[in-house]
This record gives sequence, C-alpha cells and structure tokens, in this order.
Amino acid sequence: MVQPIPAAKPIIGKEEREAVDRVMQSGMLAQGPEVAAFEQEFGAALVSGRACVATNSGTSGLHLGLLAAGVGPGDEVIVPSFTFAATANSVALTGATPVFVDIEPTYFCLDPVAVEAAITEKTKAVMPVHLFGHPANVTALQAIADKHSADKPAERRIQIYEDAAQAHGATWNGAPVGTFGEFAMFSLYPTKNMTSGEGGMNSVANADLERRMRLFRNQGMLKQYENEVVGLNNRMTDLHAAIGRVQLTKVGGWTKQRQENAAFLDANLQGVAVPAVAAEATHVYHQYTIRVTEDRDGFANALRTEYGVGCGVYYPIPNHRLPSFQRELDLPETEKAAAEVLSLPVHPSLSEEDLNRIVAAVNTVAKAGA
Ligand SMILES: *Cc1c(COP(=O)(O)O)cnc(C)c1O
Repeated sequence: MVQPIPAAKPIIGKEEREAVDRVMQSGMLAQGPEVAAFEQEFGAALVSGRACVATNSGTSGLHLGLLAAGVGPGDEVIVPSFTFAATANSVALTGATPVFVDIEPTYFCLDPVAVEAAITEKTKAVMPVHLFGHPANVTALQAIADKHSADKPAERRIQIYEDAAQAHGATWNGAPVGTFGEFAMFSLYPTKNMTSGEGGMNSVANADLERRMRLFRNQGMLKQYENEVVGLNNRMTDLHAAIGRVQLTKVGGWTKQRQENAAFLDANLQGVAVPAVAAEATHVYHQYTIRVTEDRDGFANALRTEYGVGCGVYYPIPNHRLPSFQRELDLPETEKAAAEVLSLPVHPSLSEEDLNRIVAAVNTVAKAGA
C-alpha cells in the first residue's frame, strides 16, 4: 500500500521548538511578553495594523468578541448554518440567539439576500464566515447592515463580526479579511493555515472593544485584583504565542504554496466542480472543496481506501439540524452543500508526486461514477 496523503498536516519546524524552549527557560509561561509581541506582529502582518487580542482558542475569541460588543439575551446574530459549530455556539453562549440563514452556492458563504430577509428588530449583528479561506461578500453585507440601521441610534446599528477562522491573509477588494468587522476572529488550531497549538487572534475595530475584550479575557481585570466586570480566563500562554510568532513569519509562503497547489488541481481535475473564486477575492485555500453530485460518501471512501488520498467532509450536518440547535428551517443550498462537498488535500507539504496522485485518483473515481 502506498503512503496515505493526509488531508491536513501542521508544519512544526526547529524554529518553533527553539522558541518554546526559550520561553521554558525564561520560567515565565503564562500570558506575558510573547503574547504582547504576537498580538502586535499579527496585527501588522495580517490586518493592516489593527489592534489584536490573543485568546486560548478561536472559539474563545468569538465568545469574547461578542461579549465585548455587548451581545446578549434578546439579541439575534445572523450566522450561516453551513460552518463549524463554534460560530453559532459562541453566539448561543452569550444568551443571544443565532439566526441561521442560507449560503450562496458558488463560494459557500452567507447569501446577502437571505441575510436581508432574516433581519428583525432584534438583529444585533451579522457574522459571516470566510469559509474554506474564501471571503464572504462583506461589501453586500455591510450595505444591508447600513440600510437597515439608517434610522437607528448608534448603539443599535447592525454590526458585522467576521469569523475569519479559516482565512488568514485572504482579501476582498484588496483589503485583508479581519479589517471589515467590528471584530474578526482567526483560529490558530493545528489544522488551520497557521497554528499556535491552540489559540485565537481577534482583530478589533476600536480601542473600547479592545479594552473590553482584554477585560473579559482576564476575569474582568486589566490591573490585578481591580476587577471591573465579570470575566473569564481565556488567556493565551507565552508558550503558545512563541509558536504562533514563528508561524506568522512562515504563513505567507505557505499560503502561496496552497494557492499554487490549488491552481494545479484546478487545471487538472476533470469531472468534478472545482472551487470558484470571486473577482473581488483572493482565496487562501484553507480547504480545497469540490462538489460531488452523486454518492459523495462513496467517492470519498474510494479516494481513501483505494488510493490513499485523505479527504474530508466539512460539514456533513448543517448547524440548524444539530441536536444542540434543532431548528425547523428550509435552507436548500446549505443542505445541498452538506450532501455534496468534499475537501481534497491542498496543504503546503504536498509534493509534486502527491498532487499527481490526487489528480489521478479523483479523475479515475469521477470517471468510474459518471
Ligand atoms: C476552527 C474554527 C472555529 C473555532 O476555532 P478554534 O480555534 O478551534 O476554537 C470557528 N469557526 C470556524 C469556521 C472554524 O473553522
């Protein structure tokens, strides 16, 4: 049997190990100077210098961003159902209601028309997900939010929050994702485009939100034992920040490699629908997601067992149908995507031989099924 090609593969080098060792030797492990430096460097490298706040996971980042923005009971936040459950979980954990709407079928992101139809008096925010590394249409979403906020006082204007967990470095109209919303969360989980082990990084639009996020991150205090609000402990450790700082210097090269791998797959795959990229967008290919219209699970199984090509279904069950949410909703594009999507390896560790094997396997299975 040939060596299987993994669906994802975190790259940890000597530099990351040395950085962790440096922190170990310092004896100061918890949140400290490494986290502060990571926040500053991440902001400069990926979100045009916006202020950033690090957390112990991407999910904590969403949760703290929502708390800092004042989202809570009685509020509605519009989210896609076709995403990882963390998006809606973070909303629900504030006491607010996640309102699930459909995606547009081309880029798998929130459908602005569906978003507009879901707006009510209680809508506090829209939280698009830049799914698979392709930006959501933030221009259209912002226009809808503005239109429905025109007669509202400043504190009731509909806001945009970005779930950029999968989209480090993606751009929309030339601006990086993470610079559009009041806050934007990037995940640093090991399979994401860069990692800190576990972790999250929020970019924030203003100093007030930044301050409130820092308060909620640390038991409600900025100065020790002077707790201002009820908060959590969602701090990142200096060990994790040290890994993240090194990864930040490498993520640009990895993204380029992902894009080159995607271009090779685009040019050579046959009989399957390859991912589209909007004219306004650069895609960073956290996932390279095709559609298989007939027997997707059989297709995936053949790739894995007959050809040793790792692949994944993100996501097989729409959030609104999970036992944790159970909403009676008709979201046809979401259901269709959940039944058809299949993500192929696109990560920067793929060799030329791996890419050729992926193409040969997909084309053979596609032809057999046609
Ligand atoms: C990974 C992910 C999250 C959560 O990030 P964690 O770091 O795993 O907590 C949230 N939303 C999306 C879309 C994700 O892919």
